[in-house]
Amino acid sequence: MYNAENYRKVKEEYNLKRNSAMADADRRKREIWAISPEIKQIDAALSKTGLKIFGIACTGADVEDRVENLRRESEAMLEDRREILNMLGYPADYTDIHYECDECKDTGYVDTKMCDCMRRRLIKRGFMTSGLGFLIEKQNFDNIKTSYYGKSEATMRNNISYFKKYASDFSDKSENLLLLGSTGLGKTHVASAIAKVVIENGNDVFYESALNLIVDFDVEHFGRETTGLRTDKYFDCDLLIIDDLGAEKSTQLTQMYIYNVINTRLNRGKPTIISTNLNEDELQNAYDSRITSRLFGCYTPFSFDGEDIRIQKI
Ligand SMILES: [Zn+2]
Repeated sequence: MYNAENYRKVKEEYNLKRNSAMADADRRKREIWAISPEIKQIDAALSKTGLKIFGIACTGADVEDRVENLRRESEAMLEDRREILNMLGYPADYTDIHYECDECKDTGYVDTKMCDCMRRRLIKRGFMTSGLGFLIEKQNFDNIKTSYYGKSEATMRNNISYFKKYASDFSDKSENLLLLGSTGLGKTHVASAIAKVVIENGNDVFYESALNLIVDFDVEHFGRETTGLRTDKYFDCDLLIIDDLGAEKSTQLTQMYIYNVINTRLNRGKPTIISTNLNEDELQNAYDSRITSRLFGCYTPFSFDGEDIRIQKI
């Protein structure tokens, strides 16, 4: 599901866009009425057409012929109107409402189906609120280079195929992933690439470093904010990506936050991807068994091996 807050904002944006398109058209119409009394008259006559049709339908006799006559009359009036506008030096559609999207007339929907323009807008917002920002534009599946992985290239290529499929098939049935390996081996790149596809398919993705996750929970824990708005996203989003687990200063409290997020998401059947520079032994040492039993029991591990690809790229 699209992020609820993003959906609300986009709907609001569309309402404003539509209202302003209508207000602009109205302003242009009044401008024309001020210089052309004929057009003002035509518009007054045209606005009665609907009522006339209604009247004909109520009287019964020769309905079709009379409606057809009325339609011809309206068409003739519109033709006159276009000519007058033209003579005055205005384009024929000058007083029409100019929507940004002609498909949905800036409502975001065509019948009951969401218009592509709104879907694209929601995806764009999804990218920006995912926590990945512009990273998502730069790091995707198209520019992962497996040649940087040396001896592990074949394994990496297999893994990338798995990640691509994971991203395109993503659902609440998807596995949890544990991305292991030292800094600079493309774990964040893979996470960003997965996030992009998952967002494009209409899901709510949130990415954050373990360090900032702790900050968010601290702010609420110590009562500076009690709305839950800061931490709800860790539980509610369709896919959560926690980057760099192990970089945070570990205390009983921080372990409680992390356990709470991992465990709640498992209980709710919401997938999580965790990346870490620590290996399995280091994870065992750094976290209590409630966390590690879940990481090793409920997450599919992937090792990123090779030289630091960031150095090789230079
Ligand atoms: Zn549209």
